[in-house]
Formats: sequence, structure tokens, C-alpha cells
Amino acid sequence: MPRSAVVIDREYLKHDPGQFHPERPARIKTLLDLAGELDAKSFELLPPRAASRAEIEACHTTDYIEVVQATSQKNRYALDGDTVTCRDSFGVGLLAVGGFLNLLDSIAAGEARNGFALVRPPGHHALRDRAMGFCLFNTIAIGARHLKRQYGAERVLIMDWDVHHGNGTQDAFYRDRSALYLSTHQFPFYPGTGAAEEVGEGKGEGYTVNVPLPAGCGDAEYLRAFDEIVIPVAEKFAPDWVLVSAGFDPHRRDPLGSMNVTEEGFGAMAAILMALAEKHAGGKIAFLLEGGYDLAALKNSVVAVLGKMAGRAESIAHSAKGGEAIEPVIRKVRSVQERYWGG
Ligand SMILES: [Zn+2]
Repeated sequence: MPRSAVVIDREYLKHDPGQFHPERPARIKTLLDLAGELDAKSFELLPPRAASRAEIEACHTTDYIEVVQATSQKNRYALDGDTVTCRDSFGVGLLAVGGFLNLLDSIAAGEARNGFALVRPPGHHALRDRAMGFCLFNTIAIGARHLKRQYGAERVLIMDWDVHHGNGTQDAFYRDRSALYLSTHQFPFYPGTGAAEEVGEGKGEGYTVNVPLPAGCGDAEYLRAFDEIVIPVAEKFAPDWVLVSAGFDPHRRDPLGSMNVTEEGFGAMAAILMALAEKHAGGKIAFLLEGGYDLAALKNSVVAVLGKMAGRAESIAHSAKGGEAIEPVIRKVRSVQERYWGG
């Protein structure tokens, strides 16, 4: 049986957005320590590569790529209020995307059974022509396009459980039904998008599913959202690949988000998505690190997901008990989506 692949590299330390920035090199440093302790029977470490210009252009304009490239001439440059670069940031951004593409190629070739790209900077806020929210290039969107172009994927599920709505990813596939974008996120919150009524347009109508959650949600509420919305919709979509924007900022310790998810909760969500991938996509699932700004919470949550990938941990027999507080959100999302996905 092929092992699970983990992409991580010291090069990811080199993107420095400045002192006191939450999206800091220490995030990867703490995960490098973890990667050094992985069981070689279950995991292989996969080196990243730099994504090519053509690969980035799948989701970004040439002009924008040149703007980011030009930041390598400056010690410090603010692409937006909270997206700051150093001389190495452009190169690290290419490695973040290329690391994820390497992972997808390895899974597609059957060399890895599944995997986790532990890379930075994150990507899900990056728009076609604009950096945003710590993100330079939209790694998960580029990954989905890569699967379509290289392997003829027709139904890519992108599950985004980061505490922030992935506006860049939603935008990339808003008029495209080859990818289903499903997001659970704190709402209202940064970046302001992600209302239940945002469902896609034209050929993509019905292929964006937003579950906007109130602050304070924990494992019970998230698992309820998975049981009542995420999994029923994903089952009907029947994905041929599953990609996960795995942000760990819904963790109860996170300084940016106001949610209460635990590492066990993230493990349970990962296990549910792996079972979905097993059923519909031949097990093809790739996790990508997005946010997560408390170092201990980040490390413990990644350990929980990797434990599920290695198949060591018992699958949590979760129940949808509890979480009634989000029943109004569930009803709202159902009423918006039932014309596309049934009741
Ligand atoms: Zn986030």
C-alpha cells in the first residue's frame, strides 16, 4: 500500500511578512519538528518544486504575477494592508503552489495514497489580480485547475474549513461547475463574503455552497454542519477528487478566529472527508494548510489529521447530537440550496 505524502521544506521559513505578523515562519518551524518525527512506515516526505509561470497563470493574470515578482527587488513591500512581502516571498509563493502540485501528481500517479501540503503563505483569499489576507497565489484553486488539465478531473470538491471565507477560491470557480466550492466559516467576519445566498452564477450556479456560522461554534456545531449540509451535498456531487483548504484558525486557542473547534474536531472532519473520498474518488484526497495562528493548536491539529491519514487512530464515532444553536443557519442554507441539491 502506498504511504501518505507530506510536503514541507525549510524554504517555507523564508517568507517574512515582518515582526508581529501572525502568518509567521514559526508556523512552519513547529511543523518541521513534527515532520522529523513521522513514522516512515506511514509517511513519505515529498520535496516541493517551484510552480511554473504557466501553472500560476491558470488562476492569476500575467500583470499580477509580475507585480508579485517585482517585490523580490524590495526588502519590504505591502501588497495590501496585511499582505507584506520580503525579497524571498515571490520564490516561496511559487514553492507553496509547486509543493501542492507535486503532492497532487504523486497521488494521481498512485505513488502516494493521499497527502498533506504543509506550506506557506496560505492562498484562499488571493484573487485573480490581487493579493489579499496574507495570500499571494491561490494554491488550492491552481491545484483544482491542474487536476482538470493534467488528469481530466471533472468534479473536484474543494472543502474549505478555514475560519475565514475563501473569497479567492469562490471567485475562481463562481461560473464553473467543474469544481464545487463548499465552505464553513465565521460570519460576518473577514473578508466579508460567504453569505448563504452566494451560490455561483451561470454554469456555476449551485456549485458554491456557503455555510456561514456564528462566532462560538465548536466541534458539535461543525460536525452538525458536516452531517446536515456538507456531506449530503458532496455525496450528490460525487467528486472525482477531494481537496481541503485546511485552516486551523477555527481552533479554540486561535488568536484571530472566535470559534471553539478542538484538534479532535479537525480529526473528525478529516476522517469524514477521507471516507467521502474513499467512496467516490478512489481515496484521492489532498489537504493544504491555510490559516492557523496558535502554534500549539496548529501542531496538535495537524497531528490529529495526519493520524487519520495514517489510519492509526480509531475513527471517531461522532454524533450530530448538540450543535442545535446553528439550526437556523442549516435551515437557511437548505432553503437556498434545495433547488440545486434537493431537500
Ligand atoms: Zn483563515
